[in-house]
Order: sequence, then structure tokens, then C-alpha cells
Amino acid sequence: MELLTVIKKFNTKVECVKYLEKLKWNNVPECPYCGDQKSSPKQNRYTCLKCNRSYSVTVGTMFHSSKVPLPIWFLAISLILSAKKGISSRQLSRHLSVDKDTAWFIQKRIRKAMIEKDSVLEGVVEADECFIGGKKKNRYFKKRQKDPTRRMTGYSEKIPVLGMFQRSGKIITRVLNHAWGKEIIPIMKNWISAKSTIVTDGFGGYYYCSEHFQSHQVINHSKYNHRYDQYHMNNIEGFWSMFKRSLIGQYHKVSNIYLQDYLNEMAYKFNYRKSTDMGFKTLMHNMLL
Ligand SMILES: [Zn+2]
Repeated sequence: MELLTVIKKFNTKVECVKYLEKLKWNNVPECPYCGDQKSSPKQNRYTCLKCNRSYSVTVGTMFHSSKVPLPIWFLAISLILSAKKGISSRQLSRHLSVDKDTAWFIQKRIRKAMIEKDSVLEGVVEADECFIGGKKKNRYFKKRQKDPTRRMTGYSEKIPVLGMFQRSGKIITRVLNHAWGKEIIPIMKNWISAKSTIVTDGFGGYYYCSEHFQSHQVINHSKYNHRYDQYHMNNIEGFWSMFKRSLIGQYHKVSNIYLQDYLNEMAYKFNYRKSTDMGFKTLMHNMLL
């Protein structure tokens, strides 16, 4: 949904509640405590006629127990979704006129609703790893380049990340402890159907892919032809370069703990890039779970 539409449409609590009630209940309120659908309404709230408890559409959801007004949540979601390269919590705090702790709290909850839960990738799936590291570590890496063992020492300073992209489908990413097969293969098996064709580069971590998936196509970067080969890794490589640019632009240093959160956010936006309305609706739906 366009930012301007959200600003115009959801500028009052009543409008936001109306949208959420339709999304969660299809307009038939249901008591979150006993599940009964008979209630008496009073100012955005309902009293259950069975258990006599009072509730609203946001009880027990990510919107609940925060002092942040609903129109601010809607605006925050829209801002985060429309920032292609991400938005820092400082920027978010300025746009929403809230303090930076509140902005950080909002951002954290919204990112939690962006976590991919039960997707299974199938068909042609590109898998690739990428190494993320802070500026200091990059300098260290460059300094180490003269060292013949630099590949090991340099990369061990960076955080490895695995990406899995289904052709014309979703991307799923996972931060790794180590970029090696015994960690990579179980993650791939968890997210990718065994009937899939896996496309990877020649990195040893993917060596046993052919034992777990229907087929394994190994791309030789120095030889393969971008234009004519049906098996390529252009999509996943495109995602990595976008992700790295967003890290440079928005998040000046990467914290190990939050890297997966950043990745989830960028992957979510990437997955809904062709349908921003669906991205907005799905996120709202996840916030209500
Ligand atoms: Zn009840």
C-alpha cells in the first residue's frame, strides 16, 4: 500500500480498528479468552456475553500493551515497507515523532512479523552464501590479503549467511555459525523440497546436495554464460548486492544478534516486491497473530 494512501486512510484509531477487525474477524468479533462470538460492542471494545470479559481486536497481538497509537503503527509499517534499502530506527523516530527507544521497539516488533515461518521452496532453487562484516573487519581483511591463508582468517572474521531463492518465488536467509556443509545442508533440507533442482557455485559446502535433492547444478563462474544458461545465480546475487548496499546505507555497523532481523526485513520486502498491497496485508495479518 502506498505511503500516502496509508496516511490518508488510517489517520484515526477508528479507521485502523475497522481495518484490523475486518482482517482478523471478517467483522464478526470473537472473544480471545473463550472463543465465543456473541458480544456487546462499546467504543472499539467488546464485552463477551459468555465469559463477561472485555476485549478489543488488538488483545494478545503485537499491537497490544504498547502506548503507541494505532495510526503510528500503520504509518511505521508503511514507512518500513516502502524503504527499499531499509530505514534506521533514528530515521523512523524522526518520521513518527516518537523517541528513539519507541522507534526501536516498533521496528523490532514489525521485523518479528516479517519472519518467514512455513514456506517450502521448490522447483529451481538457487542457494548461495555471503559474508557480512563491519568496517573494521574489512580493513583487517584487506590487511590480511598478503597472507596466503587469508581466505580462512579473513572470512572467519565475517558472519556467513545462507540464502535460498526459489525461481519466481521467495527468498529465505539464515545466519550461519560456520559456512560448511554440515550446517548448510540441514538448513536447506528444512526449507527446500527434496524434489527441487539446486543451483549453487562450486563451494564445497554444497558438495552433498545431490544426495538430498533431485538434482544439483554447479555453476562455474569463470565459464558460465549469463544469457544462455537456464541455470544461473543472478537472482540470489542480486539480493546479496542489494542487501550489502542497504547495510552500508542504513546500518553503519552490523550486530551479530540483529543481522537475522535485518535479513528477514529485506527478504520480506524482496518477496513482496511485486505486490506491495499483499505485503502490507500479510504483515498486518502477522501482527495480529
Ligand atoms: Zn469470552
